Amino acid sequence: MTMTDQPQQIDKERLRQKYAEERNKRLRADGNDQYVEVKGQLAHYLDDPYTPITPRDAKTDHVTFAFIGGGFAGLATAARLTEAGIKDVRIIEKGGDFGGTWYWNRYPGAQCDTASMVYMPLLEETGHMPSEKYAHAPEILAHCRRIGKQYGLYDNALFHTQVSDLRWDDANSRWIITSNRGDFFTAQFVGMGTGPLHVPKLPGIEGIETFKGHSFHTSRWDYDYTGGDPSGARLEKLADKRVGIIGTGATSVQCVPHLARACKELYVFQRTPSSVDVRANAPIDPDWFAGIASSGWQQRWLENFTANQAGGNAEEDLVQDGWTDLSRRIRAKILQLPREQRTVPNMRAAFEDSDFEKMQEIRDRVDAIVDDPKTAEKLKAWYGQLCKRPCFHDSYLQAFNTPGTHLIDTDGKGVEKITERGIVVAGKEYPLDCIIYASGFEVGTEYRRRAGFDMAGRRGVKLSEHWAGGMRTKHGIHVHGFPNAFFVQPTQGANLISNVPHNLTEAAKTIAVMVRHAQQNGFARIEVTKEAEDKWVELLLTGVGRMIGGPDCTPGYYNNEGREPGPAARLNVGHPSGAMAYFKYIDEWRRSGEFEGLRFS
Ligand code: NDP
Repeated sequence: MTMTDQPQQIDKERLRQKYAEERNKRLRADGNDQYVEVKGQLAHYLDDPYTPITPRDAKTDHVTFAFIGGGFAGLATAARLTEAGIKDVRIIEKGGDFGGTWYWNRYPGAQCDTASMVYMPLLEETGHMPSEKYAHAPEILAHCRRIGKQYGLYDNALFHTQVSDLRWDDANSRWIITSNRGDFFTAQFVGMGTGPLHVPKLPGIEGIETFKGHSFHTSRWDYDYTGGDPSGARLEKLADKRVGIIGTGATSVQCVPHLARACKELYVFQRTPSSVDVRANAPIDPDWFAGIASSGWQQRWLENFTANQAGGNAEEDLVQDGWTDLSRRIRAKILQLPREQRTVPNMRAAFEDSDFEKMQEIRDRVDAIVDDPKTAEKLKAWYGQLCKRPCFHDSYLQAFNTPGTHLIDTDGKGVEKITERGIVVAGKEYPLDCIIYASGFEVGTEYRRRAGFDMAGRRGVKLSEHWAGGMRTKHGIHVHGFPNAFFVQPTQGANLISNVPHNLTEAAKTIAVMVRHAQQNGFARIEVTKEAEDKWVELLLTGVGRMIGGPDCTPGYYNNEGREPGPAARLNVGHPSGAMAYFKYIDEWRRSGEFEGLRFS
């Protein structure tokens, strides 16, 4: 089926039917259980290929603030706490350095998908000018280290360390932290920045453990095997190799062009094609940057991004990336409606029209780029742009024109089997030297499984018990019964998915203000009241729900693999009036100094 008509001639009914057919092909009874937990004989897929583990003495001391996770959440929070005068902040990180997702994801071609000017935190504070509109991973990792150094966070940090237990000591108003390195220390406050996408997952494909060749997950790239380096140097050791990559999500889109260039034969095993729009990356001109980088510039850019992307009405679009384009297009469509016709059903219809047009453009782009019409047809995404993570790239589709690069489309079924020799699809075996798993990260699994521990609050109540019916917080930060613990993540706050770091840097500011208030006034504890938490959850439930994913979408981690997610998932939302409203609200809440909903004691 090809649809190259002009937007106004799109046959919407036919398109809806095609989307539904494609979705139905992919629905599976096992949902999230199709993936296997990386443990036991698969545990080696988690080994750190980047930094050797060095022996150290166990910690048995006390710190004012311990933060679990050394990615953007931990770095931003620790930076703001340091500015607020808290000198003993200890970051505990399972990787061998700061960086979080950017520590692990060093696959060739990795780069940010939201413009660096808003994506990279603390640019103004560190005086760093991003080198490109969409910076590549080595620059982002170096930036994480820059933040760590500038704020003196290295001295107290514990790397290659996983918290194994975290419990509240009510008598002494502090947390007791135990780790896999024998640490047993206390902290007055704890921050949780464990991230949503840090536990690699593997597809539960029959025979996965039998493959005799080499294999690794994209978040543990084996440069010893492939040659090359994270800055994109040619993967020269693959010149005589047959390589298979499983998965065609945002990670695969970024690394496939590098593999295509280097491998003798590359087989890309696809279950669902990604939507791949124009990237248009470009270097940042230092003269231009000097002109815009006046005091407060990054905050202005962040606000402008959110105003364009999530609920505002900005005239000007400073950032102009794929995300702001997406939202401005939808808004323009809605504004074409006469004011009196802007009802919810009409706005939904306008949203659908705009999406149909955009996706048609994206499918037409495939035809324009990919030489072989059969391959082009298979690379087309038949679903709404926000059903799966939208991708942007200017050499992914082109890679399929490279001799030796083969798209092995599984018609929505996925890889059938892995054997000692290679991968089987539709009864045909593809012999391989190496399998690369671009199969993503655990999202739909339980929080405690992803965190690696189940924190115990007052009276020993576990977080999993408190959240048995779904997440409950105030502001996405505080949980009743868990004093002096702060969660740094998007859900139940702004939930701005298009620029995750903005959620984290706002939470960091909020936490620093509260901790400073406690310190200055001699309070040992900060806790949200039950009433305030309940009220916040009630407020969240007044919203329209999530814009991404959705039950009619093709399966993926955005919609719990297409399965009814259960009542708890209705709480995985943000402020009912959108990210823009949340940021404004939390700024006023912070500034008021009243800390409504919290009890300091
Ligand atoms: P994803 O979860 O998005 O993709 C996993 C891929 O594996 C999908 O294509 C999936 O197919 C495929 N797959 C799973 N099982 C099988 C099977 N049995 N047979 C064949 N294929 C299979 O993981 P990614 O690592 O690509 O991305 C995860 C997230 O990380 C992104 O959504 C994004 O949020 C983030 N990310 C951000 C980047 C950035 O900002 N620059 C870059 C990369 C990632 P199917 O689609 O059918 O499920």
